[in-house]
Amino acid sequence: MKKNFVFKKNQWFFEEIVPGILETVKTGVKIKKKIFFGKSPYQKIEVMDTFGFGRILILDGIIQLSQADEFIYHEMLTHPALFYHPRPQKVLIIGGGDGGVLREVLKHPIKEVCLVDIDKKVIEVSQKYLPFVSKEAFKDKRAKIFIEDGLKFIKRYKNFFDIIIIDSTDPLGPSLGLFSKNFYRDVPKTLTKNGIFSIQSGCFFEQFSHLRNIYKKLKKIFPFVEIHKACVPCYQCSTEYSFTIGSEFNLGKLTLRDIEKKFKKLKLNLKYYSPEIHFTSAALPKYLKEKLK
Ligand code: SAM
Repeated sequence: MKKNFVFKKNQWFFEEIVPGILETVKTGVKIKKKIFFGKSPYQKIEVMDTFGFGRILILDGIIQLSQADEFIYHEMLTHPALFYHPRPQKVLIIGGGDGGVLREVLKHPIKEVCLVDIDKKVIEVSQKYLPFVSKEAFKDKRAKIFIEDGLKFIKRYKNFFDIIIIDSTDPLGPSLGLFSKNFYRDVPKTLTKNGIFSIQSGCFFEQFSHLRNIYKKLKKIFPFVEIHKACVPCYQCSTEYSFTIGSEFNLGKLTLRDIEKKFKKLKLNLKYYSPEIHFTSAALPKYLKEKLK
């Protein structure tokens, strides 16, 4: 017998408006239990247990990660960049206060990783209520944690980092500047020769203009720009999420054989990224290549 659907408002979480088409689309997740609610000087912070995605982190009403699929997002924002680079030693993460990208970066034999998040509270709440994300990464002696605006931090380092990863919130509030031309101009000065820049660049369908904006700006800064993509179900995108990579290094030069050799040598324990995914995730259909022009 078909069960009647009873919609009780306080049992569902609907995301606030995310820039882009999402203003016309609303999807909700059914809540099991509200775990944490608080405000920092920068944003509203919520943690909830859900039926469909396990535990989720929400900032300013927008889902940042879920227990069910955070590994997809964190592996795809991290590993393509670290595999493009021949031998990354120094890594900078801007944002990423949940510790997921930090966890993935520390799987590589890097010397030093600096994580710069503007909001101490996100790090505290994530370590307390979302330990499955960082998995003690904050305690690794190679990790240096800075509570600071990434826009200011980057200006203090010249020719220093081999990899820069932007794991920020959507272009609203404190992270708006991290999608600006001025910030992108600072990035190559902070990177070492052939350094790699990786940024979370939104949903392909719902936020296409945002993605194209980033792509076009980076094309003015870096001779080589690639877009990798993967489905991250908790991000209420009907299509894949995008991860855009820029570098002066010819990203297209690497072969599957090159990535396989490095992957085998590093013996990383990964659930999503692989040498095949490195290439298939960068294959864009013709209509999207057209739309990016
Ligand atoms: N996966 C998420 C996404 O795609 O939306 C990002 C999660 S991560 C928790 C986002 C972090 O970016 C937050 O902790 C926020 O405090 C940080 N952030 C936003 N603007 C920042 C800035 N200008 N400098 C440093 N960190 C910033």
